[in-house]
Amino acid sequence: MDATEFRRRGREMVDYIADYIEGIEGRQVYPDVEPGYLRPLIPSCAPQEPDAYEDIMKDVEKVIMPGASSPACTELETVMLDWLGKMLQLPEAFLAEKAGSGGGVIQGSASEATLMALLAARSRATRHLQATRPGLTEAAIMEKLVAYGSDQAHCSVERAALIGGVKFKAIPSDGKFAMRASALQEVLERDKAAGLIPFFVVATLGTTSCCSFDRLSEVGPVCNREDLWLHVDAAYAGSAFICPEFRHLLNGVEFADSFNFNPHKWLLVNFDCSAMWVKKRVDLTGAFKLDPVYLQHSHQDSGLITDYRHWQLPLGRRFRSLKMWFVFRMYGVKGLQAHIRKHVQLAHEFESLVRQDPRFEVCAEVTLGLVCFRLKGSNKLNEDLLDRISSAKKIHLVPCHLRGRFVLRFAICARTVEPAHVQQAWAHIQTLASALLEAAQE
Ligand code: PLP
Repeated sequence: MDATEFRRRGREMVDYIADYIEGIEGRQVYPDVEPGYLRPLIPSCAPQEPDAYEDIMKDVEKVIMPGASSPACTELETVMLDWLGKMLQLPEAFLAEKAGSGGGVIQGSASEATLMALLAARSRATRHLQATRPGLTEAAIMEKLVAYGSDQAHCSVERAALIGGVKFKAIPSDGKFAMRASALQEVLERDKAAGLIPFFVVATLGTTSCCSFDRLSEVGPVCNREDLWLHVDAAYAGSAFICPEFRHLLNGVEFADSFNFNPHKWLLVNFDCSAMWVKKRVDLTGAFKLDPVYLQHSHQDSGLITDYRHWQLPLGRRFRSLKMWFVFRMYGVKGLQAHIRKHVQLAHEFESLVRQDPRFEVCAEVTLGLVCFRLKGSNKLNEDLLDRISSAKKIHLVPCHLRGRFVLRFAICARTVEPAHVQQAWAHIQTLASALLEAAQE
């Protein structure tokens, strides 16, 4: 949708909402629909090709309006998480469609998803331990619980442990910045021998610093064997798994208890929209369920509906699945795949430009849309280069440390990015680097 169409559609939408408000007295307060009404009204997976905007709006009238905000808001969310799960080829155990035990929910952020997973894992571990060792108090268990992530995991993992009141330990990653089973196992053995209780592991697919991938197929079996909750954080990289050529990066997700990524990062859905799936929804609902009378309703114990309030921290929720429905239909799966592929291609173009300049080095494998690079030389030199880049205000780069080395990160992000932007950015970096190196020689 270009800017002209966006303006037109925006005006139409304001009219649609104004008409709704004007005619609200004529509408029924309580919907006639029964739980489960929505799924049969829409296809069981996202379209491959784009749908026309007019058709989507017709479906809003036909599918959403009869269900008002509730149950339409809940039911569309469940179906959209199934659509997206199928795009990623998630194992069926994570989908709600088969009326199994799993399903998806939209959280606000990856940090929230990790926190929810950790709290649910804490509750599951405590229940299990108290069942086998009845004398053990909750406080005594809490003192010993340990959560793990790689030394490359996002700080939100350690923060979840902090909020959850449990210890966090970082597992040293390997030469490719990936967490391996052997390193995890070693720390687990040491901790168990010291009387601690390992209960939760976060594997990251697409780390923040350099987009490395923990070895899920190795780490997963260790977690299953040791009865540890495995949460997979693919906040950024998850979007790429809709492309068959990147799906192998998700192999091993079958071992996970929960999986999360942010469609708002790279799948063209506006902020906020963080998709989280669990294999066993009772792990979440069992941990956080409270039922005051003002929240009770006639269907609550029927098993027919999902009460998302038990899956998340807040009670109230927005209709975020509408964004997913519109985006998936307006682009089609092929359009979304093309978007991802273009960004990855541009990252490789940038990588090859860096490699052609002998003053620079590429610091980590380029798998998706992130290139980590630096001037050969000291950290100070690279910090100075970043200062010059930031002061020039033409492009924005966020740095990181990789094994003590100060590294610049070039991330392809914008929906509208073209090869010319990448070339301009590189020419700009080269010019600033030349000036810096000349100044350093004077
Ligand atoms: N996990 C990873 C791997 C990330 O890269 C990020 C953010 O960049 C996060 C978690 C935190 O994401 P959010 O802002 O959605 O909490």
